[in-house]
Amino acid sequence: MKTIETDILKVLISEEELHARVLEIGARIAADYEDKDPLFVGVLRGSFIFFADLMRCCPIRSGLDFLAASSYHQGTSSSGVVKIDYDIKTDVAGRHIILVEDILDSGNTLYNLTGHLRDRGAESVKLCVLLDKPSRREKPIQPDYVGFEVPDEFVVGYGLDYADRYRNLPYVGVLKPEVHEK
Ligand code: 5GP
Ligand code: MG
Repeated sequence: MKTIETDILKVLISEEELHARVLEIGARIAADYEDKDPLFVGVLRGSFIFFADLMRCCPIRSGLDFLAASSYHQGTSSSGVVKIDYDIKTDVAGRHIILVEDILDSGNTLYNLTGHLRDRGAESVKLCVLLDKPSRREKPIQPDYVGFEVPDEFVVGYGLDYADRYRNLPYVGVLKPEVHEK
């Protein structure tokens, strides 16, 4: 059987490492938000697996919703313009928001989404990202909860895609170069 694993050059973060870290982050958020009834907002589609695992590791009273955003790219650099393709349905006025994203790269996406949620009256907005690529930052933005710092390599798996494929890998890995070139 040909599986997607044959396209992977190396595993960067194993299933076990992911699970252990998500448990830690869930416990920290639970302690920080115990009485705050926060609203977890997942950024589709890349965060969906991290989001589902994180929620199950954070046993406090809370709500959840999703939004989808896309950023326009000019060549290889992000233009910084972010479009909301699907917005949350929950009223965020007075709520404590935890924005959950797969990866913080240039920072354009989360910078814009944070502003959007604040404009709509959120009491607070904190950022929880599975992966952080601090070397690529263009916007003054810091994550509040981070799973792992990663080098400037294109990663896939555990929700992250290449051309909408590889999201279902149970770990985070790097593709073989010939897969990009195909
Ligand atoms: P930012 O707005 O911070 O530049 O971009 C964040 C988005 O870019 C992420 O949500 C993700 O969709 C995409 N992205 C950035 N780096 C990577 C990467 O290494 N792998 C994948 N699959 N997506 C990435
Ligand atoms: Mg994304």
